[in-house]
Amino acid sequence: MPKITIDGREVEFTKGQTIIQAALNAGIEIAHFCYHPGMSVAGNCRICLVQIENMPKLQIACATPATEGMVIYTKSEKTIHAQNAVMEFLLINHPLDCPICDEAGECKLQDYSYQYSVGYSRFDELKNEKDKRVALGPNVMFDQERCISCSRCIRFCDEIAKSPQLTFVQRGDHVTIETFPGEELDNPYSMNVIEICPVGALTSREFRFKSRVWEMSFTDTLCPGCARGCNSIMGVRNNNILRIEPRENLKVNDYWLCDWGRLNTTKMVNDEELRITSPMLRLDESSLEKEVLIDVNWDEAISKSISYLKKYERSEIMFVASPFSTLEDNFALKKFAKEIYGSDSIFYIPLIDENFGDDILRKSDKTPNANGLKLLGIKPYSNETINILTSGKIKMLYILNDDIMRIPGADQIAGKIEASIQQISIHNGYSSFANIILPTSTYAEVNGTFVNFQNRIQRLKSAVATLEEERLIGEFSMSRLDKFGAQNDRWTHGTKFNSRPGWKILKLIAKAMGHNFEFENSEEVFIELCLSIPELNGYDYESVGKQGIVTGEKPLVEAE
Ligand code: SF4
Ligand code: SF4
Repeated sequence: MPKITIDGREVEFTKGQTIIQAALNAGIEIAHFCYHPGMSVAGNCRICLVQIENMPKLQIACATPATEGMVIYTKSEKTIHAQNAVMEFLLINHPLDCPICDEAGECKLQDYSYQYSVGYSRFDELKNEKDKRVALGPNVMFDQERCISCSRCIRFCDEIAKSPQLTFVQRGDHVTIETFPGEELDNPYSMNVIEICPVGALTSREFRFKSRVWEMSFTDTLCPGCARGCNSIMGVRNNNILRIEPRENLKVNDYWLCDWGRLNTTKMVNDEELRITSPMLRLDESSLEKEVLIDVNWDEAISKSISYLKKYERSEIMFVASPFSTLEDNFALKKFAKEIYGSDSIFYIPLIDENFGDDILRKSDKTPNANGLKLLGIKPYSNETINILTSGKIKMLYILNDDIMRIPGADQIAGKIEASIQQISIHNGYSSFANIILPTSTYAEVNGTFVNFQNRIQRLKSAVATLEEERLIGEFSMSRLDKFGAQNDRWTHGTKFNSRPGWKILKLIAKAMGHNFEFENSEEVFIELCLSIPELNGYDYESVGKQGIVTGEKPLVEAE
């Protein structure tokens, strides 16, 4: 491979790469604001100027192709002088309002002020005043004074979202960005401009002023909004999800998330009105009124569940799996049906929305784990399933995290069912008919796996605590620290729901019915299920790693 030398270190590069790409691949940091690996090169911020032997002037590393034998200096006197000058220029009109800026703590301009600036300003004129709160669209607020005109947001709209809604207007120090006349920044991917803005000029209207970033904990996880399974980072404070951001995975979602995924997948976790807060029991079995569902404790709910389960024969019970739940939960349900009833009467309900899918990220399949169910050999419902359900032969349903009112003819089915147990997180269309509701932890509260549309198994990680975790973790919770080294207060503050992971509830019921499921945690469930599926033999959570693994692929051992 051809080589260049950066600050005395030889670095290999592939033909066509620029200096900044070769450097970043080799783990060498070259300062940059406008360069973004997912978009075209603009070359306008000039902070990546480097000195190259035999070239009379400094060159921008983002737009200069690497060539064999090139010798580059990123820390020479000339380069440092240029970096100081660019920073001085960028800060001349910057309001320096870090104490009230959402970006503070994760701002490139703030970080580079320490790394590449001289620490004082020679400018003692009045700064330019511009508009501070410009609503560019329903989700993004713009602070004109903070903008450094890097053009990342404009390029994102043009090149990635394919919605050219932003442009520069004016010139010189009056330059700013605006939407085109009559347009808003309103496209399915608009909120990505918030993270790619290297300063605090573009902020989320949802998240604005809710928290300083150092007060939050961050967990690498997945979006459950559709079959793509975009990789995300969940920001939590006081056990409440405040922010979802994209996590780079070039094989799944590149650097992006859709707005729907960020905004709609947190309600099912945070919203106390929607959540099932405790196990519930229908007192009067002859009435289907919602009001007669009362809160009970777990022991009572489990013992009542068993009395229903024992009442019906194998041929009278059907199990409803969930494409919204993890592989682990669905495996436990399938095992429960098989080991306790010898039953294969298990199906799931797909959710396809052709209007949702696009050719960027969003998939029409709005479930995160339909391919996981296929791996487990669980099929979607068929006409035959509906016929059986409406025939009256099935007297009891055990439903994992779904709403059977989504099946055509559901009213008729609901009328034929004598008893039902629902393991769900939020109230749904069928919950007013259920005899027992067992609160199940949401995707944000569990460890587990989803299988996306590419058959890539990916990890979900627990970011929000439940009462169950608090009980189990006990003293240990007090010593948990977040990435800034501060007390991670999701473990000690905020509302915690009395929910349990789906597989754990099934294990509890199975145990009370005399069957011992040996797994003790979600990884043990995963290992057991992998042993039962040839394509997954030998996988564990470590082999799934940070970026997932395609079924059948040889596990790569990757440090977490
Ligand atoms: S708003 Fe942010 S991303 Fe857009 S040009 Fe200004 S600094 Fe760059
Ligand atoms: S494309 Fe799908 S998985 Fe990705 S953020 Fe949107 S809803 Fe979530």
